[in-house]
Amino acid sequence: MMNKLKLSALCLPVFLVASAMADAAEVNVYSARQEALIKPLLDKFTEQTGIKTNLITAKAAALQTRMKNEGRNTPADLFITVDAGNLHRAKEAGLLQPINDTDISSSVPANLRDSDDQWIGLSKRARVIFYAPDRVTSSDLSTYEALTDAKWKGRICIRSSSNIYNQSLVASMISDRGVDATQQWAEGIVANMARPPSGGDRDQIKAVAAGQCDVAVSNTYYYGAMLNHKTDSSQVEAANKVAVFWPNQQDRGAHINVSGAGISKYSKNRDNAITLMKFLLSEESQQWYAAVNHEYPVIDSVSKSETVASWGKFKSDDLNLSRLGDLNAEAVKAMDRAGWK
Ligand code: FE
Repeated sequence: MMNKLKLSALCLPVFLVASAMADAAEVNVYSARQEALIKPLLDKFTEQTGIKTNLITAKAAALQTRMKNEGRNTPADLFITVDAGNLHRAKEAGLLQPINDTDISSSVPANLRDSDDQWIGLSKRARVIFYAPDRVTSSDLSTYEALTDAKWKGRICIRSSSNIYNQSLVASMISDRGVDATQQWAEGIVANMARPPSGGDRDQIKAVAAGQCDVAVSNTYYYGAMLNHKTDSSQVEAANKVAVFWPNQQDRGAHINVSGAGISKYSKNRDNAITLMKFLLSEESQQWYAAVNHEYPVIDSVSKSETVASWGKFKSDDLNLSRLGDLNAEAVKAMDRAGWK
């Protein structure tokens, strides 16, 4: 294909090459998710539709900078990243456009889509409490709010406030309780930390397993990945010493977030990007995409992986995830004022 293109570029007048390239069925994907989590699906998409995919993977911020710099000339058609906070940043930076497709808007629950229709969730995760069953009983736990009780002093592990997952969790609390109550909560969490924040979500679970703390906050799929780790048995052992707890089941529900996608503002292959979005929402893709990273499908009727299903059902916060982006700056400030490193 590449050789053919080069050859034709040499032989044909420029305008013919340009029109041939515009006609070539392709879609360019900028993904902040790892290649292993998206490439197999893109290959299947090409097999089924004949639409060629080009994949560029990098960190969300780097991809956004790149799209900003490329401006109208960006080859990006579909932008994929994790966390509604990141999707919101892309929208605020003017990098996305309305999706405007009723099949898509009718299949993704409204709370998992941008209120201005500029991004959708593709997979769902919960950010919940993990505990050491040999030192904590589940009846000791109840809500995120209750983690500020004096009984948890020196017993909580949670990562840094610079992490978007924590920022979105705090944003969800601001939406429910307001800024002042949330800042007080953040102060209470800081007061109860077993250690200054360090490492990622897996490190918090490992610290519970190692006895450095008794309770941690982490996204569910890290726990799933540790339980199923193929090469590092220490991760399997650590995860087996820790249990999941669904917080706030009597009120707003556990905090959830998504990985998701939006269409680049200057997409040259908008129709193909829409076709790819629909493919990623198909039952087969939803099942694969959620299972490979131990996430939840965004389409409720799609079955979960065995590991994820084994955690049982829970009530999730049905806050529209656009709010996590709207309240991100407030969340960062509240954590900052609370001295959350
Ligand atoms: Fe993650």
